[in-house]
Amino acid sequence: MKTAVVVGSGAGGAAAAHALQGRFEVTVLEEGKAFRPFRTDLRLPERLKRLGLLVDPRLIHLMFPAMRVRKAAGGTVLVTGRGTGGTTTLATGNAVRLDLALRRLGVDLAAEFAELARLVPTTTDHRAVWSQPSRLAFAACEVLGLDPEPLPKMGRQDRCHGCGHCVLGCPHGVKWDARRLVAKARSLGARLLTGWQARRLVVRGGAASGVLAVRGSEQRVFRADAVVVAAGGLGTPALLERSGIRCEPRLFVDPVLCVATRWPGARQDHEMSMPFAVRGERFIIAPYFDHLSYYFDHRWQPRAGDIFSLMVKLADAGTGAVRGRSVELRQTDADRERLAHAVEVCAEVFARLGVPRRELFYGTVNAGHPGGTLPLGGGDAATLHPSVLPENVWVADASLFPESPGGPPILTIMALARRVAKHVAAA
Ligand SMILES: Cc1cc2nc3c(=O)[nH]c(=O)nc-3n(C[C@H](O)[C@H](O)[C@H](O)COP(=O)(O)OP(=O)(O)OC[C@H]3O[C@@H](n4cnc5c(N)ncnc54)[C@H](O)[C@@H]3O)c2cc1C
Repeated sequence: MKTAVVVGSGAGGAAAAHALQGRFEVTVLEEGKAFRPFRTDLRLPERLKRLGLLVDPRLIHLMFPAMRVRKAAGGTVLVTGRGTGGTTTLATGNAVRLDLALRRLGVDLAAEFAELARLVPTTTDHRAVWSQPSRLAFAACEVLGLDPEPLPKMGRQDRCHGCGHCVLGCPHGVKWDARRLVAKARSLGARLLTGWQARRLVVRGGAASGVLAVRGSEQRVFRADAVVVAAGGLGTPALLERSGIRCEPRLFVDPVLCVATRWPGARQDHEMSMPFAVRGERFIIAPYFDHLSYYFDHRWQPRAGDIFSLMVKLADAGTGAVRGRSVELRQTDADRERLAHAVEVCAEVFARLGVPRRELFYGTVNAGHPGGTLPLGGGDAATLHPSVLPENVWVADASLFPESPGGPPILTIMALARRVAKHVAAA
């Protein structure tokens, strides 16, 4: 049987590996280790915060190796997962179909979304586990005509234990993440190798013969008839550029800004993240306890249990770039205007809840939805194979998105990755 190497075990890698195994002998290279949820008692980081010792979120991996934080030029904090399941293990579990821009290009993923509906259980039946402030905020959004909707969640979040650890790795197994798909692929015979970082593609004569990867001081070429790169919106362009393939400066990240207030007894830190959302023009608003801002931003002074926060997630214009280890991001005037408008909407919701503007404080701008550096265009939408790639190398993540989908991308990435896998098999 022919062999395929898949780089990355997150949403795209897991979906591609599962769809390819059987037609190919699949090896998944994952640079991180097997994922473990954050198990440290949160009283420790709380103590460190109060002592003023938590100053740099980039050091978070020392406590939680599966979470990587870096800062883009311009200060935005970028969060990604590193380990089996990729960033899906840190995700809040929202399962939203966001393929409008792809459909405009003629990429119809209806069949793949239907396949995923059979593979990934989802539920919107989780109101019973919402906190009281979230219920009140939902009602306030309704009164303001903002049409809030409970978000569909991957897994059995109707059985949420209310520990508030969604973004630290659900310790109760109610949240679905891509490790389940990796496990399915492995049960079909796929091989998962953790701790192996793909350094570059080995390319000769317009085709790749394999992937050069390193693990500690070990170095090895994994031979492959086909290579699928799904190292995430930041990892994929970095790997391609190391392989001499130029990506485009069209990186989007979907910046997040939380607008918060002191709310005694809110206990949002113990609630499922993002129980519902309001959709605006290229932004969404949802209740979200921002651990990153709480631990690392000195403006977040109240106790964790006494904060209620609304997140704004913006679909940014996509003008950033990945250059080796560094990431450049530029906010456009349109981004700034939309962000200001969304913050205004949050302030109206808080006003409706009886919280005056002077009692609001803000979080650190952070982001976790990177993509767009190898955007599909009219020419390659039919093949899903950007012409800069060697003939047997494919990309299966949000790098292919023509623009930010403006919300949680996991489901759409997985659908696109499954479609890419079909093209790989056909080629
Ligand atoms: C806090 C947070 C919450 C989120 N919540 C949601 C949500 O609710 N719903 C949603 O749809 N999206 C959510 N997202 C976004 C979502 O998790 C990501 O967009 C998605 O996981 C990206 O999938 P991917 O396969 O492209 O990359 P990833 O899931 O990031 O996987 C890439 C994998 O590749 C590995 N890798 C990278 N480089 C290499 C290399 N050179 N060699 C080998 N391995 C490599 C990485 O270690 C990683 O495991 C959230 C993101 C964050 C940060």
